Amino acid sequence: MDKSCIFCRIVAGEIPARLLFEDDELVAFADIAGQAPVHLLVVPKRHLPHLFEAGAADEALLGRMITAATELARGAGLEGSGFRLVMNCLEGGGQSVFHLHLHLLGGRPFAWPPG
Ligand code: AMP
Repeated sequence: MDKSCIFCRIVAGEIPARLLFEDDELVAFADIAGQAPVHLLVVPKRHLPHLFEAGAADEALLGRMITAATELARGAGLEGSGFRLVMNCLEGGGQSVFHLHLHLLGGRPFAWPPG
């Protein structure tokens, strides 16, 4: 745990968040500044700052994040309309919280290319 990391503090229960999913490795909760009708964050419990810090040993964790996000999308009723998963990496990729997380966005159309 990184005491200065907001997502570590959510995982530890020090900052309140309504968890929509939890298992031994992951939690999921709503983004505080939702950009779509459905905007959830799937977050590993272990502090990993970003994808450049993840390696082959984290492949199962990364896959589990996608599987969990897909189940959350199903639970949110997005099977008909679809959804978008986003993982920003470093400032240039749009990352603002340096604890790995996957955005699940749905409930409205999404343009391509992204902004
Ligand atoms: P990123 O820019 O990809 O690092 O995404 C970080 C996301 O975390 C942003 O969409 C923020 O709105 C969200 N966020 C920051 N603090 C909180 C919080 N306390 N609870 C829920 N979401 C948060």
